[in-house]
Amino acid sequence: MSRIQLKDTELLRQQALFGGRWQDAHQGATLEVIDPGTQQPIATIPALGAAETEQAIDYAESVRVSWGKTPNGTRAALLEKWHQLIIDNADDLAIIMTAEQGKPLAEAKGEVLYGASFVKWFAEEARRIYGDTIPAPSDDRRILVLKQPVGVAAAITPWNFPIAMITRKVAPALAAGCPIIVKPSELTPLSALALAVLAERAGFPSGVLQVLTGLPTEIGSTLTASRTVRKISFTGSTRVGQLLMQQSADSIKRLSLELGGNAPLIVFDDAELDVTIPGVMASKFRNAGQTCVCANRILVQRGIYERFSERLLEAVSALKVGDGFSPESTIGPLINDRAVEKVNSHIDDALSQGATLLRGGISAPNGTFVEPTVLGNVTSSMRIAHEETFGPVAPLFVFDTEEEAIRMANDTPYGLGAYFFTENIRRAWRVAESLEFGMVGFNTGAISLDAAPFGGIKLSGLGREGSRYGIEEYLEQKTFHIGSL
Ligand code: NAD
Repeated sequence: MSRIQLKDTELLRQQALFGGRWQDAHQGATLEVIDPGTQQPIATIPALGAAETEQAIDYAESVRVSWGKTPNGTRAALLEKWHQLIIDNADDLAIIMTAEQGKPLAEAKGEVLYGASFVKWFAEEARRIYGDTIPAPSDDRRILVLKQPVGVAAAITPWNFPIAMITRKVAPALAAGCPIIVKPSELTPLSALALAVLAERAGFPSGVLQVLTGLPTEIGSTLTASRTVRKISFTGSTRVGQLLMQQSADSIKRLSLELGGNAPLIVFDDAELDVTIPGVMASKFRNAGQTCVCANRILVQRGIYERFSERLLEAVSALKVGDGFSPESTIGPLINDRAVEKVNSHIDDALSQGATLLRGGISAPNGTFVEPTVLGNVTSSMRIAHEETFGPVAPLFVFDTEEEAIRMANDTPYGLGAYFFTENIRRAWRVAESLEFGMVGFNTGAISLDAAPFGGIKLSGLGREGSRYGIEEYLEQKTFHIGSL
């Protein structure tokens, strides 16, 4: 535990918050949390299962009506306090995140602030939950649409953004008046528990936010089977998203699914490389390439291919792989051995089918640290063209025409993020409208922020998070007919 040196040691919790108190598993079962930088255990967490999940659901239901009736201004004020506490404790939260997730400390701090921005955004949005009035067919009638909380909600979140993926769900749920149960990834539960400590301090009523750590299949199947849980918001792999959707069919639950991606990034001949290269670096190598909107396929027009690859190699050479706590590191370890195996298998498969190794390659075994890699002449028959790599590998594909680029970009069952770089504004409109993705970046590699809707289509999921649309995911419409006036 020595790498977690906090100003406020209370933030490091090894119990879960449910049923109105911090608790262990009923039978005392625990799981270890491993530091990917050292591969050493840093904490234990309760391995909760079905019984504890039932307890959390019942407790959430017991506060559902009162939380839903709490004035919006009061809910907003609590979110404002929570936001301030997250900001005040950003350094400690970043340390916890780096220890359990591996990302460099500066990047972890960036995520804390990004995560906090959703709390602020939805604190403000809580005051703007408006309904509607609809012209009635006669003067003695009125028709209103009321917006009401969906009820008990649950969030199941991944390890790659241990804070932001939670605040992006919890803040709109609480703003809308829904109690929410969070099941963070078992790989990164400590950030979630620290957020819950700060929510308690902010003064949220007991039960409106609970955090269950432990066994994903048991907790997940209990949440999906429950008729009390009216909404599940999931971020993670498409495979698990599909399973949760099937499991939620019996109870006809509202679902938001933020799933995997296979983002294309298109570089046209006329792209301005001073804009393009930083865009590619941000989109490709942030979080060591472990992001759902990370450029997985870099499509480069033939005329700029040489110049682009030279500049990219220069930028990639400046990256420094190393421990997240070391100040010069810009790329931390991958989350675990499985992640390294997947990255290596994609490189191996591409090279064996004729791709050229421009930089990096399969790293010598070194914990879960891997070298940033650039592959040239990648083609659509290679695995990397179809699967999410989730690592610091930039595969370069060549194309000749705009039509070909769009066809290649859309040739994926996923539809989350896509990017393109060009100086031609007519082309920009054509390409933006032709790309079949939920989010498109034109001359930018940054498409995630509090104010803009985030989400995908096709196998990348359902629903939108962030922005004014994000709160709708936690609201029901009730049509209220008034007669005989
Ligand atoms: P994952 O699907 O393995 O796990 C995500 C969460 O689901 C974890 O909390 C895990 O414990 C839980 N889980 C696993 N099996 C479950 C089950 N049977 N029932 C209930 N819960 C279960 O994904 P991951 O490896 O943690 O995250 C990486 C994936 O997440 C990538 O595919 C990435 O693209 C995706 N992702 C998507 C977004 C987005 O916004 N679209 C954002 C971040 C990550």
